[in-house]
Amino acid sequence: MDYDTTLERARKLDRCDSLNGFRDCFLIDDPDLIYLDGNSLGRVPKDAIGLMDRLIRHQWGNRLIRAWNDEWMGLSRRIGAKLAGLIGALPDEVIIADSTSVNLFKLIAGALKERPGRRKIVTDSVNFPSDIYILQAVADLIDPAYELVVLPVDNGFAVSEDALDRAIDEDTALVLLSHVMYKSSYMYDMERITEIAHDRDAMILWDLSHSAGVVPMACHDMGVDVAVGSTYKYLNGGPGAPAFLYVREDLQSRLINPISGWFGHRKQFYFDTEFEPAPGIDRYLTGTPSVLSLAMIEPGVDLALEAGVDAIRAKSLSQSEYLVELWASELAQLGFTLNSPRDGARRGSHVSFGHPEGYRIDQAIREEKQVISDFRMPDNIRLGIAPLYTTYAELHAAVRALGEVVTSGSFERYSGVIKGVT
Ligand SMILES: *Cc1c(COP(=O)(O)O)cnc(C)c1O
Repeated sequence: MDYDTTLERARKLDRCDSLNGFRDCFLIDDPDLIYLDGNSLGRVPKDAIGLMDRLIRHQWGNRLIRAWNDEWMGLSRRIGAKLAGLIGALPDEVIIADSTSVNLFKLIAGALKERPGRRKIVTDSVNFPSDIYILQAVADLIDPAYELVVLPVDNGFAVSEDALDRAIDEDTALVLLSHVMYKSSYMYDMERITEIAHDRDAMILWDLSHSAGVVPMACHDMGVDVAVGSTYKYLNGGPGAPAFLYVREDLQSRLINPISGWFGHRKQFYFDTEFEPAPGIDRYLTGTPSVLSLAMIEPGVDLALEAGVDAIRAKSLSQSEYLVELWASELAQLGFTLNSPRDGARRGSHVSFGHPEGYRIDQAIREEKQVISDFRMPDNIRLGIAPLYTTYAELHAAVRALGEVVTSGSFERYSGVIKGVT
């Protein structure tokens, strides 16, 4: 099939894009930089700049300790309630706290304690490493007799529903999966798999790090038990911004928080020595939040709410489809493989191209073509689509750059030894 791969077409798609105005809401310091790594670290919403200035001068500077009562004590909850609108949760089912990794610890332990007597825990081999490490660590801590089943890939990208259906049984306490795979961008059918888990009365924990803000979902209506996710990727919350966690309303009075710090206490400022959990989602807090970082999450969440996740998803799909077309026309013949699903319905918001020289090619386009993508072992060059600011023209330029560094052989100047953040 012949696709129109001209720059004119990319520009036309940009002109017709109903979300194109949102790009102006982000700080674009270098207009020539083609940034396709919003799936790892989102760009700066312009509103974050003024907000940080006001926060430092007025709240921290002028109000000092009084700012806790004015504003800061309610911030984790207030921003969580807004973020809930992006993942189909009720406002009081989401709170901002700690990192995704720490929240995984808390919710895995809480979920396992909910299913005493069951011995099996199910995840997959393409899950993010932190998820698997923490799952193993918590299981060992609670009871070394747990059997951790790390299912192998059987549909090219992840685990088929049939294999999950066979693996999840009446002895399964917990299923932990990422909604969208960080390498391949494969997206699980959240509703179907939640149903399979619940059919066996197993708990389900979804990691939404690569889907929150770019894929519509209905956590509450699907009956998802617990979920975690990152705010510094597609939500543009800033480097290392605290993560979010979701606990379904009816579970909040039961699920324990194993890091039961003073912020999760019912009457924090009575300083009781006896722990009494706060009612509701507050009990999953632990200690003092990083206020500066926490506050910076709000502008990005506001932009996503304003654009609407359905519109964001529609553009993301159109752009990833466009990348797949460019790959078929220009890159396949140069030895690039498509390491993401061809079926848009099973694809998240990034596209991975495989190449045996992937790491060197990734460095070459960064150094020579001002294209920032990223690299994931063993051979994936990931191009992240952040629909609020990614343009079709940028995707066009990135594909052209990939082709040129391979055709010219200029990637051979770079070392294949992995260094630093990839
Ligand atoms: C990015 C990501 C994380 C990161 O966890 P941190 O605690 O923020 O470092 C965890 N899980 C998944 C699936 C991710 O994509």
